[in-house]
Amino acid sequence: MAEPTPIRVEVDFDLCQGHAECQAEAPEWFTVGKGPEAKVRARRGAIPDDHLEAVRAAVKYCPTQALRLVHDDANPQE
Ligand code: SF4
Repeated sequence: MAEPTPIRVEVDFDLCQGHAECQAEAPEWFTVGKGPEAKVRARRGAIPDDHLEAVRAAVKYCPTQALRLVHDDANPQE
């Protein structure tokens, strides 16, 4: 089994507009409610290797750039 990587996702809820692109890319990691006030709910903690590609795609395709990846060990951001 793959070791979890020390990378997690952070959400800027001021930017999130509930587009749900993230949920489409990584449904294991993001859920978005319905309605005009919907915001994303993201899982916390280290992202396992087998989810990382999908989460990276979610970050990339979020239209408002509300998501970012954070490396817990050295703190550089992607
Ligand atoms: S794609 Fe971006 S704006 Fe849309 S729900 Fe996900 S985080 Fe929010």
